[in-house]
Amino acid sequence: MTTLPTEPDLQLIFARLNYEFFNGEVPDCRIRYNERFSNSAGRINYSERPMTIELSPKHFRAYPEALEETLLHEMIHAWCFARFRDMGHGARFKKKLRECGLTSIYHELGNVRPLRESNRRYILRCERCAFEALRKRKPAKPASCPRCNKRRFDPRYPLIIYEIVETRVAGDTVEGLHAAVKGR
Ligand SMILES: [Zn+2]
Ligand SMILES: [Zn+2]
Repeated sequence: MTTLPTEPDLQLIFARLNYEFFNGEVPDCRIRYNERFSNSAGRINYSERPMTIELSPKHFRAYPEALEETLLHEMIHAWCFARFRDMGHGARFKKKLRECGLTSIYHELGNVRPLRESNRRYILRCERCAFEALRKRKPAKPASCPRCNKRRFDPRYPLIIYEIVETRVAGDTVEGLHAAVKGR
């Protein structure tokens, strides 16, 4: 069985990649293994402080060579979020991906698998007071901040919806990815 880097080792790899590709600009992230991942290789949670990158030990025991690339992928997400509040695989993400020499953009491969609903998490955030609430489903209609106006819906204080979990799907290839989206 392949021995995976320990979690402290992952932090060292993170530091090296941060120096090599980002000039040290990726904010500190907590990196950990998650044994419960069944169909994802890695993911980032933007809503925790520090941001958390989780990797699937199951997946990387089978594909150890993909670990560093997956970590780098998630680090690009952390970098885009820290700099631009960007999530998902937009133009800035892709530009940085290319700069890092990663080319496997799954979107173009056309084999993205649907993300199961149960993997999704949404965060509703008030930009005024930083109130945050987690939801398993995307709210069907606009909501406003219950702290800024306790009494009723108030369009001055909208809750912005972020999809916080970005999941990299594991399969025979490591190509499946799902974007995080921001919407209202
Ligand atoms: Zn508020
Ligand atoms: Zn991604």
